[in-house]
Amino acid sequence: MTKKGKKLYEGKAKILYETDKPGLLIQTFKDDATAGDGDKKGIIQGKGARNNAISAVLFEVLASNGVKNHFVEKLNEVDMLVKGLQMFPVEATVRNIVAGGMSRSLGIREGEVLKYPVLEYHLKDDELHDPLINEYHIRALGLVEDKALEKMEDATFKTNEVLKTFLVERDIDLVDFKLEFGSSEGEILVGDEISPDTCRFWDSGTREKLDKDRFRRDLGGIEEAYTEVWKRICEVG
Ligand code: 5GP
Repeated sequence: MTKKGKKLYEGKAKILYETDKPGLLIQTFKDDATAGDGDKKGIIQGKGARNNAISAVLFEVLASNGVKNHFVEKLNEVDMLVKGLQMFPVEATVRNIVAGGMSRSLGIREGEVLKYPVLEYHLKDDELHDPLINEYHIRALGLVEDKALEKMEDATFKTNEVLKTFLVERDIDLVDFKLEFGSSEGEILVGDEISPDTCRFWDSGTREKLDKDRFRRDLGGIEEAYTEVWKRICEVG
């Protein structure tokens, strides 16, 4: 049994706790949802359990395909054991289909399939609304060391290929997603979560949205969408 210790950090959707195991933390998934940098708040019933289960499967799929990440094991409905990371101040986004921020900032219609995946970096800073930055900003400002940035880029594109393949077999199109990285004992690992909170998932046939956009845009059927993704990812072997 892993014991939950002191609360280290509480974010919008998750809490991190110390444990009695050196170097390992418990990541607890909450039902709380926010959008628009916290302007919109709500509860998505069962989201914590769904996102914990979905993330656990996707982290295992990544690990078995050579993408190292912080996941150790699922402990119960809402808790997973993870490696403690020194988090990077930059997040990586990959886009396969135009949506959300890219559609708004470039005035391109949502749904256009991109010829190649687009990699974006954003500075993690809520007050500045996570501004878009590029590799030159990251290197010039020393936000991530050059070697680590190369590894982050490789792992991000590999994640895209692995997840796209896994999800398409479950009739889900991976529109875009955001990854957070950190280091642990000299290794660069994917951290955080991989879930309908951090990815855009569309039904391959109907293009129905199966992700947090249903909450962001008041589309209704939010719990049903998370449950549908959970069924397709966690119930199909
Ligand atoms: P966009 O830049 O279009 O808003 O988001 C691109 C992708 O990254 C989407 O899948 C979105 O869910 C994810 N993403 C980007 N920033 C955040 C964030 O601060 N929180 C969460 N949960 N997801 C994010």
